[in-house]
Amino acid sequence: ERIVTTGADEQERAAESALRPHGLTEFVGQKVVREQLSLVLDAARARGAPADHVLFSGPPGLGKTTLAMIVASEMGAPLRQSSGPAIQHAGDLAAVLSSLDEGEVLFLDEIHRMARPAEEMLYMAMEDFRVDVVVGKGPGATAIPLQLPRFTLVGATTRAGLLPAPLRDRFGFTGYLDFYTPEELVLVLRRSAQLLGVQLTAEGAAEIGGRSRGTPRIANRLLRRVRDWAQVRGSGIVDRRAARAALEVYEVDELGLDRLDRAVLEALCRRFGGGPVGLSTLAVVVGEEAETVETVAEPFLVREGLLGRTPRGRVALPQTWAHLGLTPPRDAPG
Ligand code: ADP
Repeated sequence: ERIVTTGADEQERAAESALRPHGLTEFVGQKVVREQLSLVLDAARARGAPADHVLFSGPPGLGKTTLAMIVASEMGAPLRQSSGPAIQHAGDLAAVLSSLDEGEVLFLDEIHRMARPAEEMLYMAMEDFRVDVVVGKGPGATAIPLQLPRFTLVGATTRAGLLPAPLRDRFGFTGYLDFYTPEELVLVLRRSAQLLGVQLTAEGAAEIGGRSRGTPRIANRLLRRVRDWAQVRGSGIVDRRAARAALEVYEVDELGLDRLDRAVLEALCRRFGGGPVGLSTLAVVVGEEAETVETVAEPFLVREGLLGRTPRGRVALPQTWAHLGLTPPRDAPG
């Protein structure tokens, strides 16, 4: 199993929810988004109305789900969770929408993966709090209008650009989440260590924070693995020695790249001589879906200057070769 993977299984989910901040003031970093969101929520509370629909966009593990839960808790409203892939028919969406209570927050993760007909139903629901449920087929089909309670939709997407404009426009506010700085991750780690009852030194936190790929989910996960090492082989304290040793065991490199990141870079340099190579070709070679490579691996690699995007395809940059310990060919791009 990949330790730095950004997906989450059942056990992970339980461990994660134990570390979730419950309010905006507990939420570390993302200062701009936090301030914008707090304005939206304060205004709604002052009006005594449900908050405007909110969209959170950004790579996995940066806090979109956490913020959705915070929206609900700050509004004192219940939260209903579903996701784009779970909504394959307009009827699926109608069922969810019609069972909402007044003021409820509906969280739709991966909203860009919702089926088209459901998307169209959602436009009307968001704007007019009403849907037309079509009964029957063919010329005899009739649309029965259904009034909905006023609710707040919180959408999350790794690709805001994939959302059709009519859907994007119906959100009152979009928060773009960016990777966290190592210093912010140190704050996340300190908070988590306290909740887990783990003794964490400043150097230990810095070591883990610097190798967490700018992602709180990864920081928390690495903290748990370093704690394991410290308990079994160390002094029980998460210090620099424990962090270095454990991260070596789990093959987390000094930039915190995970196996997919490294596979992408290796393929780019070794198989394609540094590119340019198209996204889909690259994805096939690393055995992943193009969307996964594009939304999970690439944003961090691009930000770290390890991958370039050009109109002709992905290219290796001088730092890419250096990071892999390879010598670029003389005609390498970049
Ligand atoms: P996403 O929905 O964007 O994939 P999540 O909201 O599920 O990410 O966050 C993943 C994990 O990281 C959660 O355990 C959460 O507690 C933690 N986390 C995310 N953002 C923050 C933050 N700003 N401060 C503290 N913990 C955070």
